[in-house]
Amino acid sequence: MHYQHIRLPVGGEQLTVEANRLVVPDNPVLGYIEGDGIGPDIMRACLRVWDAAVERAYSGRRKVHWAELHLGEKAAEQYAGNYFPQETLDALKELIVAIKGPLTTPIGGGFRSLNVSLRQALDLYACVRPVRYYTGVPSPLKKPEQIDVVIFRENTEDVYAGIEYPSGSDEMRKLERFLKEEMGATFFDDAGLGIKPISPFATKRLVRKAIEYAIANQRESVTLVHKGNIMKFTEGAFRNWGYEVAREEFGDKTITEDELYDDYGGKRPKDKVIIKDRIADVMFQLMLLRPTEFDVIATPNLNGDYLSDAIAAEVGGIGIAPGANIGDHIAVFEATHGTAPKYANLDKVNPGSLLFSGVLMFEYIGWNEVADLIRHAYPAVLKRKIVTYDFARQMDGATEVSTSGFADALIDEVRKSV
Ligand code: NAP
Repeated sequence: MHYQHIRLPVGGEQLTVEANRLVVPDNPVLGYIEGDGIGPDIMRACLRVWDAAVERAYSGRRKVHWAELHLGEKAAEQYAGNYFPQETLDALKELIVAIKGPLTTPIGGGFRSLNVSLRQALDLYACVRPVRYYTGVPSPLKKPEQIDVVIFRENTEDVYAGIEYPSGSDEMRKLERFLKEEMGATFFDDAGLGIKPISPFATKRLVRKAIEYAIANQRESVTLVHKGNIMKFTEGAFRNWGYEVAREEFGDKTITEDELYDDYGGKRPKDKVIIKDRIADVMFQLMLLRPTEFDVIATPNLNGDYLSDAIAAEVGGIGIAPGANIGDHIAVFEATHGTAPKYANLDKVNPGSLLFSGVLMFEYIGWNEVADLIRHAYPAVLKRKIVTYDFARQMDGATEVSTSGFADALIDEVRKSV
């Protein structure tokens, strides 16, 4: 494909999908989008750490060829004010796997959010957030090491579908008339109205991905988190369709919680993933009180939004929590925090969220050795109490370093690893 501003690196080969599987060459071209605000600082640091880990893992046999793509403010500079250029979307589709920093949502730019637009344009229907504890990270819990979950949040529907009408608008009046006169609904006059679509199609593809992940990674359970006690035909249906996809497509590899107790005396057979469900509000309590009972979580969009930040905070990781938005093959990995504009270009913030999103990306392409090296190097650096400002203010006796200084310390550890 010919691009106006994108330069694909020479020497790299593109990923492909063959027989529904991702095929990754030893010299893949992966896309990166710096992002706005602190994006360039953290991306610069992370690219160095990832490259060092790839070099350490494969001694030159494998190498990533990075292709810079633009979205957000940097795109607007290049593409005559366009924050969301079509050729970036085309390149993301062509390259299949990419990683991005945070993006400012242009105020009055005609976008709800660039991130939401990106998910919709590429149909990245699963927001995947692994949350686990790294020794040394300051956490509010007594036993944060008990938390090790992967959240699959549905990304395309629910109240995020953007179907809502302001109080008193013509559209709202029209819908109000229909709901009150034809459907017998009752609600206060002038209420702003929003629609919450939840479909079997979107639910099943999300839950399918969560179960496939659980099976591939020897996870014990998938918990469907919903508010079906109140919203029966949306959240309750999510639960029912979730069990349906487990039964119909993974019947030999999954059992329900009832079957676990009725047929297996409460002891999970090693080759079965338990499918269970919990009401969303209870789930917030359980993740504080009995987190070891949970493993993979699949949930509609809004629950997932709240839950992923809350669980990340439990391990002290809101600034280091990684994330990815994944479709059928296309995947965009991303820092989960925002652009923190007051720290832009100060070389100050924690690169952890983007760093671990990269770890997730290397696992996605099957380069687990790279992921393992970074996972081991990180706590080793923290053990030496070398941290960025955000952790330094929560720790005694810490040595505060810059973003690039933290990357240097990580690279030292990566190079020392055996
Ligand atoms: P934010 O950028 O996440 O920043 C809020 C605070 O979180 C910062 O002031 C800082 O706390 C802390 N923080 C964020 N990233 C950090 C890091 N890497 N290391 C250490 N501390 C970090 O949230 P916001 O101020 O609400 O949003 C700013 C812009 O980002 C908005 O335009 C918003 O739309 C956008 N945004 C983008 C994304 C995305 O692209 N995925 C996500 C969320 C928000 P202290 O001040 O306490 O040091």
